[in-house]
Amino acid sequence: MKSKVKYVSKKKLYPAFGYSDIKNNTAYVRKDLPKIVKKFVKEHELYHLKDKSKVVLWREIKANVYGLFKHPLGFLVCVIMSLAPYRLKLYFNRIMGRDYLFPKLEE
Ligand SMILES: [Zn+2]
Repeated sequence: MKSKVKYVSKKKLYPAFGYSDIKNNTAYVRKDLPKIVKKFVKEHELYHLKDKSKVVLWREIKANVYGLFKHPLGFLVCVIMSLAPYRLKLYFNRIMGRDYLFPKLEE
């Protein structure tokens, strides 16, 4: 089954830039992001949908490397945009295994 990509508003995904819903085989990307970042986030989330690994840190490393090769500039801008406290907190929580849920995604 082919993965879907949906572009959603900032308020549906904040503080995340993207989200992969494995159950619905859908990659969500924030539409307010710069175009190059959207391209990177899309590849990153699509990679997550195909990845069978369960280890969060390893999943993130793989998805970032995959996106980096597809859109190096998008990766770079994404990193710069992520050097904000609310973004670093998100990474910390994700690595500690605290998952974010986005209940408003399909509204
Ligand atoms: Zn990710």
